[in-house]
Amino acid sequence: MSSHFDTLAVHAGRQDLIRLGVHAPPIDLSTTYPVRDLDAGTAAFDALVNGAAEASNPIYARLHNPTVARCERALAELEGAEEAVLFASGMAALSACLLAARGQGDHVLAVRPLYGSSDHLLELGLLGLETRFVEAADMATAISKDTALVVLETPANPTLEMVDIRAVVAVAGKVPVLVDSTFATPVLQRPLELGATLVMHSATKFLGGHGDLIAGVIACNPQWGANLRKVRMVTGGLLHPLAAYLLQRGLPTLSLRVQRAQASAQVLAERLMQHARVSKVYYPGLGTVRNAHLVGTQMSGPGSLIAFDVVGGHDAAAMVMKSVQLALPAVSLGSVDTLIQHPAGLTHRVVDEKVKARYHIGPDLLRLSVGIEDVEDIWTDLSQALEATTKT
Ligand SMILES: *Cc1c(COP(=O)(O)O)cnc(C)c1O
Repeated sequence: MSSHFDTLAVHAGRQDLIRLGVHAPPIDLSTTYPVRDLDAGTAAFDALVNGAAEASNPIYARLHNPTVARCERALAELEGAEEAVLFASGMAALSACLLAARGQGDHVLAVRPLYGSSDHLLELGLLGLETRFVEAADMATAISKDTALVVLETPANPTLEMVDIRAVVAVAGKVPVLVDSTFATPVLQRPLELGATLVMHSATKFLGGHGDLIAGVIACNPQWGANLRKVRMVTGGLLHPLAAYLLQRGLPTLSLRVQRAQASAQVLAERLMQHARVSKVYYPGLGTVRNAHLVGTQMSGPGSLIAFDVVGGHDAAAMVMKSVQLALPAVSLGSVDTLIQHPAGLTHRVVDEKVKARYHIGPDLLRLSVGIEDVEDIWTDLSQALEATTKT
């Protein structure tokens, strides 16, 4: 039937509800499932252990959960993927990809800047793959037969730099490319259509959208899906079914939330540019980030994250955090309410100092995640907080 994104967002993963005779998705909290017929149970166990998306009996909740699987079907549809696999967090999702990629090579090529914890995880090499950090432009010379995976984030956390997915995919050849699309959401960007193999989201952010769950998802083909489920099964990075329910509950409004926040973000970014206490604004909709020309093609709109440098350095940035009344001074993003945070002091604290300096993650940088409040109220709050910095 109809497949426009906004319709899908409302109906994805709910097609069987009429047959079940319910309106809201059922929640299944069982940890274990009765096995009366041992042979059938053993067959189901074998299927799940080999990565099947479902079986005649879930057996045990670490192998399969129907509520989580329903949300996965919805997310796969929204991303235009055959499958999606949910994890306990975005970091658990990235970890599973790194574990599943072992055996394909000995290293990962990663394009900075990346979310602080992703950078940290890759830098640690904890999961058995060495990481080589490269510029997207140097990918062609860096890639080799021992490259297991390419990892990139666009727009990137925190300064909204953009990476040309199609260009990276072209030089990656057969090497799978993972795109962390958290900032864009499937409303604005569909990396699989550009040739990416894996799309990752911290579903904690826009997909969840209400600041009340932590989750991560990978949208991918069935082969990766099976491998990721196998990793999830043995490492246990599961999403709890209540979180899956909440995640699915937010999906029908995803598009509304993203579009509304984006419209406000454009207004706020333009006003911030004019503000005497702001020295630089990083926002794809202003053309002030790397590869901003990809707005309108790779990404249908500029999104609702804005980074900006405050005049007065660290103390002024700290004063903004102290002074906001409507915006919440807190990490995370993509919530219905506006959040503001200091990347160098918080989300990107763990990133090497030299890397921070190189990617402008300085003491004066703040990152704003615009919510769906009235834009004038957000601006009134931001401007009074910026005025407060004149007193530092
Ligand atoms: C938050 C975030 C992550 C990590 O996700 P968690 O759900 O916090 O584990 C990864 N990538 C990006 C871009 C993020 O913003």
